[in-house]
Amino acid sequence: MIDMKEQKSATASSLSVLEQMSKTDHEQVLFCQDQATGLKAIIAIHNTTLGPSLGGTRMWQYASEAEALTDVLRLSRGMTYKSSLAGLNLGGGKAVIIGDSRKDKSEAMFRRFGQFVDSLGGKYITAEDVGITTRDIEFVAEETDHVAGLPEYRGGSGDPSPVTAYGVYMGMKAAAHQQYGSDSLNGKKVLVQGVGHVGEALVDYLTQEGAKVIISDIYEDRVKDVVNKYMVEAVNPDEVYDVDMDIYAPCALGATINDETLKKLKCSVIVGAANNQLADEERHGKAVMDLGILYAPDFLVNAGGIINCYWEVIGYNRDAAMAQTEDIYNTTLKIFKRSSELGIPTYLAANQLAEQRVEAIGKTKQYF
Ligand code: NAD
Repeated sequence: MIDMKEQKSATASSLSVLEQMSKTDHEQVLFCQDQATGLKAIIAIHNTTLGPSLGGTRMWQYASEAEALTDVLRLSRGMTYKSSLAGLNLGGGKAVIIGDSRKDKSEAMFRRFGQFVDSLGGKYITAEDVGITTRDIEFVAEETDHVAGLPEYRGGSGDPSPVTAYGVYMGMKAAAHQQYGSDSLNGKKVLVQGVGHVGEALVDYLTQEGAKVIISDIYEDRVKDVVNKYMVEAVNPDEVYDVDMDIYAPCALGATINDETLKKLKCSVIVGAANNQLADEERHGKAVMDLGILYAPDFLVNAGGIINCYWEVIGYNRDAAMAQTEDIYNTTLKIFKRSSELGIPTYLAANQLAEQRVEAIGKTKQYF
């Protein structure tokens, strides 16, 4: 599970820790270090108005602590918005472990990390993110119950990617309804960029519905497998933006909607799984709208994974997780309606709804 934009290290801020926390309105940040295991980690809790904060742990070789802090603050804030919009009783949190995920891991390190997670008493629930496997999470789970994304044989819900793909598919149907007057994707030309865990499962849904799917991936073996399995066309990664298509589905990298690609993109709808698709949310969110392209905000349509984790936390029920993911269809339509009524970009309409829910639920808590 990768996101190239996110994997690029975040730009460090010159502000102090408390100034940064105040700017982004974070509740709590925990710095964790342990010489014996080499653990250096930061856990950021953005907002727990809606419930305990949930977000994965990322292991990455940040150039500096400052960079790691900026990244964890940005990511944890994003989780508050994603869970709020998905209607989950979860707040936003995230953790980063500073280190090389290919060299620096050990059972002891993850168990020590699990103790730090446990010390927060359930205010933060962790899961996998870039550089972290289900095996690592199993070590964390030896020390704390505040974990999601465990494999099925440990009583968890397993890989969330198929659920994420289902949510993206629902978002795409809602976008088709809005843009073409019918939510049928039959005959629609859809380009799926990146056929990894989510992308391939999305191709499955799309081909079953009769969409004309074109795929692209940087790994030839991935392309070959998916082409043979689903009888779809493929293009080279550098040809993606030259293809005439109805729907562009970014399922690999972030920041693919940028000044360069917007000059070329020939599509009327954008819906995909990748996080942070708009290189600059404000500028490119508006540019997409001005071009008449309907953009379904990524953190809205890719929420299937967090929905699945949520159900694992409260008592796993696959049918309920899928039903709640299916509801992404309705939320997406609601966002489009708000966007067209107010004449604002769709990302902004989504942000506003997420903020409204946190504010409204926050007010009910004043009475306790
Ligand atoms: P993955 O690593 O399984 O798949 C990504 C695929 O993209 C890989 O096959 C990779 O080779 C390909 N790729 C990389 N660069 C490419 C390029 N330039 N052109 C074409 N293909 C390229 O990741 P995933 O779990 O399928 O996640 C896909 C995206 O969705 C990521 O951005 C991830 O952050 C996001 N996301 C995933 C989930 C989830 O449940 N897995 C949930 C929310 C968001």
